[in-house]
Amino acid sequence: MKRRKCDVRMKYHEMEAREVEDTLNTNRHEGMSEEDAQKRLEQFGYNELVEGEKQSALLLFFSQFKDFMTLILLVATLISGLLGEYIDAIAIIAIVLINGVLGFFQERKAEKSLSALKELSTPHVTVLRDGEWKKIPSKEVVVGDLLKFSSGDRIGADIRLIECNNLEIEESALTGESLPVQKTVAAIKQDNPGIGDMENMGFMGTIVTKGSGVGVVIGTGMKTAMGQIADMIQSAETMTTPLQRRLEQLGKILIVVALFLTVLVVGIGVLQGQELYTMFLTGVSLAVAAIPEGLPAIVTVALSLGVQRMIKQKAIVRKLPAVETLGCASVICSDKTGTLTQNKMTVTHLWSGGNTWQVDGIGYTPKGDFYRSEKRVDPKKEKTLQQLLMFGMLCNHAEIHKKNKEFIIDGDPTEGALLVAGMKAGYSRPSLLNQYEILEEFPFDSTRKMMSIVLKDASGRRFVVCKGAPDVLAQNCESILWDNRKQAMTQEMHKSVNEAIHGLASQALRTIAIGYKELTNEGRITSEKDAENRLTFIGLQGMIDPPRTEVRAAVRECKEAGIKTVMITGDHVTTAQAIAKQLGILNKSTKVMEGKALATMSTEELEDVVDDVSVFARVSPEHKLKIVKALQNRGHIVAMTGDGINDAPAIKAADIGIAMGITGTDVAKEASSLILLDDNFATIKSAIKEGRNIYDNIRKFVRYLLASNVGEILVMLFAMILALPLPLVPIQILWVNLVTDGLPAMALGLDRPEGNVMKREPRNPKEGIFSRGLGWKVISRGFLIGGVTLLAFMLTYKGDPNELAYAQTVAFATLVLAQLIHVFDCRSEKSVFARNPFGNMYLVWAVISSVLLMLVVLYWPPLQQIFHTVPIAGRDWLMIVGLSAVPTFLLGFTYLARKTK
Ligand code: ATP
Repeated sequence: MKRRKCDVRMKYHEMEAREVEDTLNTNRHEGMSEEDAQKRLEQFGYNELVEGEKQSALLLFFSQFKDFMTLILLVATLISGLLGEYIDAIAIIAIVLINGVLGFFQERKAEKSLSALKELSTPHVTVLRDGEWKKIPSKEVVVGDLLKFSSGDRIGADIRLIECNNLEIEESALTGESLPVQKTVAAIKQDNPGIGDMENMGFMGTIVTKGSGVGVVIGTGMKTAMGQIADMIQSAETMTTPLQRRLEQLGKILIVVALFLTVLVVGIGVLQGQELYTMFLTGVSLAVAAIPEGLPAIVTVALSLGVQRMIKQKAIVRKLPAVETLGCASVICSDKTGTLTQNKMTVTHLWSGGNTWQVDGIGYTPKGDFYRSEKRVDPKKEKTLQQLLMFGMLCNHAEIHKKNKEFIIDGDPTEGALLVAGMKAGYSRPSLLNQYEILEEFPFDSTRKMMSIVLKDASGRRFVVCKGAPDVLAQNCESILWDNRKQAMTQEMHKSVNEAIHGLASQALRTIAIGYKELTNEGRITSEKDAENRLTFIGLQGMIDPPRTEVRAAVRECKEAGIKTVMITGDHVTTAQAIAKQLGILNKSTKVMEGKALATMSTEELEDVVDDVSVFARVSPEHKLKIVKALQNRGHIVAMTGDGINDAPAIKAADIGIAMGITGTDVAKEASSLILLDDNFATIKSAIKEGRNIYDNIRKFVRYLLASNVGEILVMLFAMILALPLPLVPIQILWVNLVTDGLPAMALGLDRPEGNVMKREPRNPKEGIFSRGLGWKVISRGFLIGGVTLLAFMLTYKGDPNELAYAQTVAFATLVLAQLIHVFDCRSEKSVFARNPFGNMYLVWAVISSVLLMLVVLYWPPLQQIFHTVPIAGRDWLMIVGLSAVPTFLLGFTYLARKTK
């Protein structure tokens, strides 16, 4: 392991915390002023690591022409120009250029939307500005800012720590050492320490694994330890999806097939007596038209447009492959609190020593009365109730503010609810803090399911106060407050506590228990293990957390789409059960499993029963990984939500890892492939729907483009076999490639989902692009499009060379129209009649403009010369329209006939 020396910051770790604040002109109570921060930002720049060179626009433009066939076409055109075919040469070059420009814009758009995505998922940090803690994008942090962070956060800049609560930071990105480092605030007087030895510093990009802290920023951007080692900057995630890779492979095969067929066309043409030079140019144009070189770019555009639509629905895709996997999801494992429920907690019931109180008032407004046996009581006269409320406020990390006449909780809503309950009884945390000093704090963690503090009162007595999941906390109690005094916990009392826990939980209340112990010896409590034992049980606070209104419908919609919803929660089994029933997650055929049972099972044992379970309660984050594995082994494609640092392994292992945008830690977000900006379950459903739609749209235009290409090649091939003249001239082939294959294909990418998108089973991830009849559709429609075009040509061309240009024009018009009608067929997996043709107005306009462009080519004399076209007579239009409708409608009617049978 290489230890890096970090001399730039030497003076900061040697200084006392106060000195650092003075040197950097900041202070721990007010932080920086917004004004100073702005000035520093302008002077020193953003807090970001400079990225490597991007591909320049010019390079991207030229890369559009590096395709082998395009190069040959350009050379061939050059030759034809030298031979005197100026008009042809210029026209072909113009078309190639326009094609290049279109390709350039498509790729640019794809690139831009991908970098916009990156921007959206950049982390935010909490800084103190003008005395107020604020969340800002981490790139706006300046030297002198005070940074607050807790377990799961990534440190946003280099800092000198000034406050640590059991803080541990994992610095392996810098030191290679995977064990977290315990941090302190004391100055270090060691000569030239390595990064790993600077225990009073935090470094940009490292991860807080435990506790919380505050630090003064001493370096940002490239002036951080991370900035100094540019090669360690994480490279971007892979951004191609399995489908893109499969299409790329398919593209290679198609190139070979298209080239083979082109050579065949040229070979047969030459044998049949066509001129070699004409056949060469025809062959190259055909190859350019038939090779779907633009397919990957259109796929990227379709993916990124879909991703933008998802952003509007509050889902950010971090890894593009997730878009595809979303359409395959068969199970969604969702957290309860905040995702299925609103995470707006209000304490409604309290229990202590056999007594139950009720509190009224909703939300965070601290107004409400207390009742016992339906009679109003003064909470300050009920002794144990007082203890319960006061300790709930002290063992607490949340803050409450009034903003625009509304009360807002800063911190964990569970803790916010405890603050509000205390305030309803007339207590306030600041005045309690005047009576009690907090000596230590052991933050909440969802494996322990508890939080504790060590308190000192005015007379110097010290207490541990502990709050947590009641069943867990009760196990650590040996006594209980009953009849206003501490008593050994009898069997009877234990039973009574359990009944109270169940009573509250069965009303779907989230319950928190509070316990305490007085410390008699002098020793300092340094770990939660020492704190959380031999406690005295004080009582319970039960809070409502209403389900999100939209979730019930979303769960039902998922069920119809063949997707099972599983609730995974740290909450009590009865609470979980009650809410799962309300939401339609739990029904007669599914079961609830507890974390305890899960812990003793092997993954194989779990596999046998996992399909029947729809609620996992009292689980720890570590169990989530086991659940993901078991479901995956059963052949499921699993979407798993999470927010904490311990959720990261399960999020990573899931097929679609989902992190919470609001409550999620940086670590969870970085492990995820999808972030829910609103933490809402219904957003997952919307994202799945969009994922299915994107995949459908990709299938639509793959089908359209390939069927068109098959048609183009076949018309030429059949003509050569039948010893006919060329039915299309090269420039016409190129025009078809540019216009018909361009806009309508893009418009298909913007199509809305077909009505049944959430009424069918999830897609099998192993299925190929041509499955579910797509291959047959491409071949059959391609044959028909080629066939009718040739037929139109043969019906018009009777052997008179003077009629050739006319017949070619008719063939050209038939090919174009047949493709433009077929594009409507591609919108549905069933038939052209299954959807309203005006349902996608982009497509309607794309088709109208393509038709208009075709008419211009046919009827505008300057273009007639270039495209070798002749005006078509009215009577022939009837035949053209009739023939071009055949490929689509023939098969449409066959479908209808089969359906009515
Ligand atoms: P999810 O449903 O998202 O898994 P959860 O809130 O149900 O989340 P945890 O956050 O792990 O699960 O909480 C588990 C239990 O720990 C809760 O049922 C509650 O009793 C207790 N608890 C929750 N928050 C706190 C806290 N801040 N301090 C002490 N105990 C808490």
